[in-house]
Amino acid sequence: MSLLNIFSKNRCKICKVNRGSRFCLRIGKDICWLDCNKMRVDQKCPEECDYTLKKADDFNLKTKTDSLIEYQDLLKRQMNKWAHEPQQLFNGKIPAEMAKTEEGNKKLTTFFSDFKFNAMIPLSYLKEMLNLENLDVKDEVKNYEHLAIEFLNLIIVQEWEKAVEMYYLPENDNNSRKIFLQKRLQKYKTFRNLQDHELISSAMTKDKKQALVHFELNQKDNFTLRFQKVKNDWKITAKIFAKPEYFNSENEATQQVAILLSKNELTQAFELLQKFNTMYIDSADFEYYFGLYYSFSKHVKKAKEHFRNAMLLDPEFIEAQYNYAYTLHAEGDIAVAKKLYYKILNRVSDEPKTLNNLASILIDEQKYEEAENLLNRSLEAKPDFKMAQDNLKRLKKLKKK
Ligand SMILES: [Zn+2]
Repeated sequence: MSLLNIFSKNRCKICKVNRGSRFCLRIGKDICWLDCNKMRVDQKCPEECDYTLKKADDFNLKTKTDSLIEYQDLLKRQMNKWAHEPQQLFNGKIPAEMAKTEEGNKKLTTFFSDFKFNAMIPLSYLKEMLNLENLDVKDEVKNYEHLAIEFLNLIIVQEWEKAVEMYYLPENDNNSRKIFLQKRLQKYKTFRNLQDHELISSAMTKDKKQALVHFELNQKDNFTLRFQKVKNDWKITAKIFAKPEYFNSENEATQQVAILLSKNELTQAFELLQKFNTMYIDSADFEYYFGLYYSFSKHVKKAKEHFRNAMLLDPEFIEAQYNYAYTLHAEGDIAVAKKLYYKILNRVSDEPKTLNNLASILIDEQKYEEAENLLNRSLEAKPDFKMAQDNLKRLKKLKKK
């Protein structure tokens, strides 16, 4: 903990380390979820607080928690308390005392083996706490919060390759894209200097196919990971340096930039791009718009780099591929441009700009038949496409010679 944090406004007023993410009605101060759990387990919190612990029964808590890990932590505290108090269930005996005798231990083991628990209860914790050697405990299933923590721990020890393996990657993904993704992770100072993370909250979408996990990194930065359920696994699909709700405003942010660029208001577009780009670090759209911005400002080299980033972030992003190929074409790197144009046509066979550009390369190479075929296809897809019309006229003249 640095000195700075002690005075920092958003720290928990009890531990002064974690984020004070909720206002405690009991002490009238911002506190962290861990200190909230430590306090509320005694069930003496004011009724009005959402986080007040109301017991449904011994093993089901009625209260608000912001993450599964928080809920589990609270359950453990509740179970610990339960184990050290007389229980009617066992004729007023204290489970922790019972567990010390052979007979009592057996009784508790039977009780917990037969009990229908909700899946959240960490039986392994009970087993250890009460020394119930014969209690059968199944392995805990890793949820998205555990995986999110695993991901951040890999980043702390700079295992970039293993971290990227936790992404959702297309099955036919090539190695160069994986290397790009690894390099991209390392690009961010927050990741390179990551020392600690605190889980703040998590949420799942209604269809239970996506989940967001919100952290504070290095005791200051907001960071949210988005997961998607793929078969029975959770895979990382995106990350932002922001609170979870910012995932919802990503489209709007993209549109704002697009509008400014279309109006040629480049300075403003650039300012917004810089702002959003530090937040939406996995967005192919912002990389693409950065590319457009640099094309409009005639910085071809930078434009090319950003189009390439967009293309690698989202392999399905045809416009980014096209623009990358076109930049290479304009720079005179014909061989690579040509290869990329063909690759695009493999995916979208009637992309008019690609058909036209490829045709123009083929005209220069005097491959007139193929060029004509491509131009016809281009005009079929977009009859009023002036460049393709002009190229076709040029071609017809050349063929007459
Ligand atoms: Zn605290």
